[in-house]
Amino acid sequence: MRPFTHTISLTDARAALVAAAHRLTRTDTVALPHLTGRVVAHDVVATANVPPFSRAMMDGYAVQAADTFGAQADSPRTLLRVGRVYTGEVLARTVNAGECVEIATGAPLPPGVDAVVMVEETAVADGGVQILTAVQPGQHVGRAGADIAAGAVVLRDGDVLLPARVGVVAALGLAALDVVVKPRVAIVSTGNEVVAPGVTLGPGQIHDVNRHTLSAIVTAHGGVAVPLEVAADTHEALDAAVTAALACDLVLFSGGSSVGERDLVIDVLTRRGTVVFHGIATRPGKPTAFGAIDGVPVFGMPGNPASCLTNAYVLLVPFLRTLAGLPAYEPRMVTAPLARTVTSSLGRTQFYTVRLADGVAEPAFKASGDITSMAHADGYIEIADDVASIVAGTPVDVVLF
Ligand code: AMP
Ligand code: MG
Repeated sequence: MRPFTHTISLTDARAALVAAAHRLTRTDTVALPHLTGRVVAHDVVATANVPPFSRAMMDGYAVQAADTFGAQADSPRTLLRVGRVYTGEVLARTVNAGECVEIATGAPLPPGVDAVVMVEETAVADGGVQILTAVQPGQHVGRAGADIAAGAVVLRDGDVLLPARVGVVAALGLAALDVVVKPRVAIVSTGNEVVAPGVTLGPGQIHDVNRHTLSAIVTAHGGVAVPLEVAADTHEALDAAVTAALACDLVLFSGGSSVGERDLVIDVLTRRGTVVFHGIATRPGKPTAFGAIDGVPVFGMPGNPASCLTNAYVLLVPFLRTLAGLPAYEPRMVTAPLARTVTSSLGRTQFYTVRLADGVAEPAFKASGDITSMAHADGYIEIADDVASIVAGTPVDVVLF
């Protein structure tokens, strides 16, 4: 055993991770149907007007507004109907004073007109169209470029492609867009006892939980999970895993990050790269390492499933989102009184899972090794390192999963 001689505070660990995280510089050209949620890689300048032509915004009659001035239901102006234009058509004929053209919503205005009278404000008359109301120049007209003017920056570097922004890409007529690559995240579970779900357990074996919780987190926060084979607790196996994992943008080990004789993740990190920290003053999640090998950041996550997943929420999510260029995650929070008193050790930040029921936060934490510590909870509270207990009834801020 090589006990932790020093742990860093959660605050310092977070700061070290912020310093080490940078948006990836590689870009992907992604087809329009797959852009949702992706991050724009550079400013997008419109090369053409949207709409490309001035168009009617109402069904009715395209007119010269001046012809309608003074028109009222009881003293209409009568205009000569000289044509009709539907969407997808163009009427090249110039419309003169005293004339009008029947027009559909979305159809291009013919030359000469500057306004549209809604069909509801007109009546068909012998030899013409009665205009029952006055319109101003530009009324019911969508001007060319009113939505997007050619030359304008319409999407910014770093914008997340929410549905409306996907719509902007489509409006510009782009079939694909350059976006930030999704970080590829190698996931390596370590442990001689760890076997894949689907395999019948032999004596002393357990199923691999962490690969799957980590994959779920990675996928949910803009990454591509690249699960590798489970690595045995040997230098050779870990070396081989590192070598395979370095093709990715980020490497996650789980297990073997503590201080036992067989906990070799820190050894491989020391031997092949640099250690930024090893051991955080948190509960659960203390045996967590972070460093880099050949410029690729590496997390050594605890093997205990609740510890591993807690640290994934607290440390990995912000780091991964930075690599992906995504904005900081803003989890939903609720405030509720704590149902029972919980104690915490001074000097360690504690994450305590709770279940919300009947408006109170019921402590739900079982043990670091128990995935149901989290699966049967709705979220967690963070107990600061200078707080020794929170008494029943105190309102607490619950971070929802
Ligand atoms: P370790 O961090 O390797 O000392 O492991 C701590 C505990 O977590 C041990 O009981 C391991 O068997 C268990 N463990 C390690 N890795 C996993 C995993 N991928 N899935 C589920 N349990 C694990
Ligand atoms: Mg282990």
